[in-house]
Amino acid sequence: MKHAPMDTRPINAMSIDVEDYFQVAAFAPYIERHRWDSMECRVERNVALILELLDRHAAKATFFTLGWIAERYPAVVTEIVARGHELASHGYAHLRASEQTPESLREDLAVAKRLLEDLGGVAITGYRAPSFSIGEGNLWAHDVIAETGHRYSSSVYPIAHDHYGMPDAPRFAWRTGSGVVEIPPSSLRVLGRNLPASGGGYFRLLPYPVSRWSIERINRRDREPCIFYFHPWEVDPQQPRIAQAGARSKFRHYLNLDRMAARLDRLLADFRWDRVDRVFAGRLGN
Ligand SMILES: [Zn+2]
Repeated sequence: MKHAPMDTRPINAMSIDVEDYFQVAAFAPYIERHRWDSMECRVERNVALILELLDRHAAKATFFTLGWIAERYPAVVTEIVARGHELASHGYAHLRASEQTPESLREDLAVAKRLLEDLGGVAITGYRAPSFSIGEGNLWAHDVIAETGHRYSSSVYPIAHDHYGMPDAPRFAWRTGSGVVEIPPSSLRVLGRNLPASGGGYFRLLPYPVSRWSIERINRRDREPCIFYFHPWEVDPQQPRIAQAGARSKFRHYLNLDRMAARLDRLLADFRWDRVDRVFAGRLGN
């Protein structure tokens, strides 16, 4: 019997923040929360597309899912679990952790965890704050994440950005005082500065080879896995447009949406991908 050669490439962590196009933080000033229920929802279709894409490459991922979405689209949750992916939390109402009190954050995390666990039938151990909104001013959030029963967070982005970031935070997984392990999205160290290298808008903005080079560099030079992320609305060029939004937000949101699926296809072929909880099992003490 002939055996396929063993794949010895490093394993990276793929993640998807499950929310819809109208819940994006940059659009918050134009779409009040009470209107969410009346918006055309695209998340079911987009997650289905992503699940197919991942299956085609036998890749697994972590889905940081909003409680608000899980409550309305339970089939999205059950399908993620049924296909062997990790179900994790993106909170309930897509509130920035930096605008919460410890009490309101605790409530948001507890409600989301209960919902996701009931619907998915699995334990939720990971949380990602909307807009990577944990940094210098609210590191207490890690205590709340621990108290509500999570084991890791992926919420502190060690870069300088106009909406988020903590430039001098560790670039790689670190254990916080609360015991929760912080697994930051990937960055590149260039000339004494950290640059984002983990997806989001930059993956659509820059030519694909830049992303590939960045991930290879993190794997080879830093000897660390890359933590990549994207959103379901990024694979949906036909999504309804938010006409009132500012030029900068619109540029960031709509740029190269039509190229995203093909780019992800290359990314999934060029690297090996797995769930965050498995890639970091050693550091989480599993
Ligand atoms: Zn989000």
